Amino acid sequence: MLTLGKYSLGVGDRFAHQAEAQLAALMQAAQQGVDIVPVWNKSHREHTTIGSQPADTRRAADAAVQTLAWDKPYHVDADHINLDTVDHYLATSDFYTIDVADSIGKSASDDAVSAFIDRHPELIGTIEIPGLEEPFVTTKDSIEKIVRGYLQAVQEAGVIYRHIETKKGSNEFITEVSMDETDCPQKPPEMLVILVAIADEGIPIQTIAPKFTGRFNKGVDYVGDVPQFAKEFEQDLAVLAHAIKRYGLPSSLKLSVHSGSDKFSLYQPIRDCLQKCDAGVHVKTAGTTWLEELIGLAEADGEGLVIAKEIYAQAYAAADQLCAPYASVIDIDASKLPNPDQLQAWTSEQFILALRHDPTCTQFNPSLRQLLHVGYKVAASMDQRYLEGLEACKESIAKNVTENLYQRHIVPLFLGK
Ligand SMILES: [Zn+2]
Repeated sequence: MLTLGKYSLGVGDRFAHQAEAQLAALMQAAQQGVDIVPVWNKSHREHTTIGSQPADTRRAADAAVQTLAWDKPYHVDADHINLDTVDHYLATSDFYTIDVADSIGKSASDDAVSAFIDRHPELIGTIEIPGLEEPFVTTKDSIEKIVRGYLQAVQEAGVIYRHIETKKGSNEFITEVSMDETDCPQKPPEMLVILVAIADEGIPIQTIAPKFTGRFNKGVDYVGDVPQFAKEFEQDLAVLAHAIKRYGLPSSLKLSVHSGSDKFSLYQPIRDCLQKCDAGVHVKTAGTTWLEELIGLAEADGEGLVIAKEIYAQAYAAADQLCAPYASVIDIDASKLPNPDQLQAWTSEQFILALRHDPTCTQFNPSLRQLLHVGYKVAASMDQRYLEGLEACKESIAKNVTENLYQRHIVPLFLGK
């Protein structure tokens, strides 16, 4: 089994141009004494939208590592794969996010459910978990309900894990199981049952991505009850530590936070929980980098700003279509979106202030930011013109990508300043 370091950051990159600028942020953290493992993740959905190949992600990561002489671990994550899509990623990935959210709620057979409950009588009654203020109190019915909700999904993760293992060998990759893309959050008791089932399946899981309470909208801050999130996050950490000890899961197992970029109001509570429990974390921040590309283009002015404005105009025109696949993870107030004709007249600075995620800035426009977040398809359709823009404005983009990752993400999460 390949293991993942204590702190790691998913640094996906839609167009495979910013790996070096991203790695520069992690090098700054290393200089401050905190090792964070970079994981370049890209989902099958993103590859399909953009028309890129898994090998492009690997190539970009390897090149950045070589250029900056990064001599620590790094990985390439086949993000949100399933049995239908995993084969495309066998040659180039060493990290697999096995997504079984679609199977949540599909009940396993009655025999499988009873066998699980018979195997785990310890899950019924009063479950004392070190670190939890109060024990979980469960009944056979309440556990059976959870088992019916999740056992089938975990067993499917087992099938996918073993498929990858057969092809690659068990020591060659890191396994994450993700259940975040679903409607109903998994609370700590659900987390416990899921982990027990994962242990039964023999999956040497390194990271688990639950759906947390509250909304993790794309590219903007958390929307929800922060103290409640913090409470559940800490309970999850206690459950993980318990499952590691009691069920023999890998000691490096940790939580993975998807859509983790830009959740500024959560970083301090997350950091507090990690410190308190001496736990690690993986935070996926892919989407934020693409928005920094747009900021860097706009900052370069000239053709860069023209491209950025054109992407907005096209995204505005195709908003319904672009937003549909992301309906559950965006909240755009259409009345707050500037008309493209009006936006044409904006200066570089106006564009940047509206887009940059600075909640204290009165010109910051979260609706515009979320629309552009899902608008990467427009940039993909510009093809060479967009990529040439990235090359031409490389300097201003790199500066923004690095600074955003370091100052707004790494510092509050991992350095605590
Ligand atoms: Zn996800």
